Amino acid sequence: MNSSQVRPNLLVGKADQERTVAILTDVPTQGYYAGAWRPARNAAQFPVLNPANGQQIAAVSDFSVTDALAALAAADQAQTTWAATAPNIRAECLRDIYTHILAAEEHFAALISLEMGKPLAESRGEVRYGAQYFEWFANQATTPSGHYHLAPGGGAQVAVTAEPVGVCLAITPWNFPLAMIARKLAPALAAGCAMLIKPASQTPLTALLLQKIVAETAVPAGVVSTLPTTGDRELGAALISDPRVAKLSFTGSTAVGKQLQQQAAENLLRTSLELGGNAPFVVCADADLDAAVVGALVAKLRNGGQACTAANRFIVHEEIATEFLARLAQRFAEIHLGPGLAHDTTLGPMITGSQADRVRELVNDALAQGAVLHSGELTSDLGPSYLAPTILTDVPQTARIWHEEIFGPVVACTTFSSDAEAITLANDSRHGLAAYVFTESTRRAHEYSRSVHAGMVGINTGLVSNPAAPFGGVKESGIGREGGAEGLAEYQCTKYVNFAH
Ligand code: NAP
Repeated sequence: MNSSQVRPNLLVGKADQERTVAILTDVPTQGYYAGAWRPARNAAQFPVLNPANGQQIAAVSDFSVTDALAALAAADQAQTTWAATAPNIRAECLRDIYTHILAAEEHFAALISLEMGKPLAESRGEVRYGAQYFEWFANQATTPSGHYHLAPGGGAQVAVTAEPVGVCLAITPWNFPLAMIARKLAPALAAGCAMLIKPASQTPLTALLLQKIVAETAVPAGVVSTLPTTGDRELGAALISDPRVAKLSFTGSTAVGKQLQQQAAENLLRTSLELGGNAPFVVCADADLDAAVVGALVAKLRNGGQACTAANRFIVHEEIATEFLARLAQRFAEIHLGPGLAHDTTLGPMITGSQADRVRELVNDALAQGAVLHSGELTSDLGPSYLAPTILTDVPQTARIWHEEIFGPVVACTTFSSDAEAITLANDSRHGLAAYVFTESTRRAHEYSRSVHAGMVGINTGLVSNPAAPFGGVKESGIGREGGAEGLAEYQCTKYVNFAH
């Protein structure tokens, strides 16, 4: 069976079809700019597929460069008005978006599970997580910033303020179709910036439902636009090279991030890049193993491992490795694999069959290089997109799985005997997004936090992100932060005025 085929037992029955129709009711399928829903000017559309069975669920307007430039002209016009809008009003708009997202939680959650595949409980979590960014940045919009003081030599007052950077372009991935937009849109609106959103072509419907909510608030026409497209390269290149765009905020793979950074260099465009990860998950000999197993379940299986913060490399002390892996395997055996919308599913399909094949390829490469299959299965009766949670031990550092983002429910494990060895193993990556360390020793927790090269370190937890914390990476995991005061600063320029006495 190849990846595009569907198992008969997952072909959609009448009840599923009715449910799909209900979920898609009131979800726009056209793009939005200059205050109106619009088809592509050339009338093109592209299909959106359900990862659970590969079947088409919708056809969405496929915007071209012409559509994108029309949206940019409207955003450019709206920018001045939005920048001059009182922070109180901007904050009210953000609170309105927050309230409306939460009111639509079930609708959003079902839509995310339908077009992206994650289990409903996780989709609900993503909706609440994404909504929180609008609430948090509503408060940031009115938080005073800047300073005013006498110059050191006297004779002048130094006044420092923050201004909106201007029209921003957001390009986002499919794995968190609501939250990845929320982390960009909320601070941009708080700072006074208009934003053009280019959602992932695999998950445009969630972005369009969010756009619908924004359009129903007092955010003026032109300030927020959503541009669904399969012409990502052309549309991205046209907008990035246009001097009316002041900033690019990209979340996606490191390979594409590098290309966009090169394009952005032409105009010295400001960029924020949230890229791939290869998180180490260190379990020390003194760790609380129950907590480590719970942390591993979250850090490895959330979104089926299709998360930039997913634990990739498990680095476990040799004295407790057997016990830790036995307990983890037992919890993995309780996982229920199935379509995201089924009520008992705790692990959904991969986004596509080819993504699942890529994970299988990484596992086979590791096995060929001497890794051992501890537990798990890489095939399922449900179809080629489904992978059961799998554990590999004795993974050599030469294996691809050690260096490449797995993006699937596979634990690649090796053991260590000293902290120095664990830290060296943890830092053996070109990425540096998240890292996780489990230890009951405060001294050790501090030592690992200082020594591990990562933008974010979770001590005794498998989940690090929240709206008040600066999310982002070092090395090839990117540039810039989302969330926290740092997340607002990404959308601001510092202006200094010298008032001579
Ligand atoms: P991707 O292939 O890099 O795509 C991301 C977005 O960029 C999509 O909207 C895509 O459009 C667009 N795109 C691709 N090539 C482009 C180009 N040449 N010009 C302009 N736009 C382009 O990544 P993905 O597979 O969707 O997402 C998975 C990756 O995202 C993983 O590496 C993951 O670690 C990373 N990620 C990072 C974070 C973080 O915060 N650090 C968070 C989530 C995910 P199409 O959809 O049309 O292809």
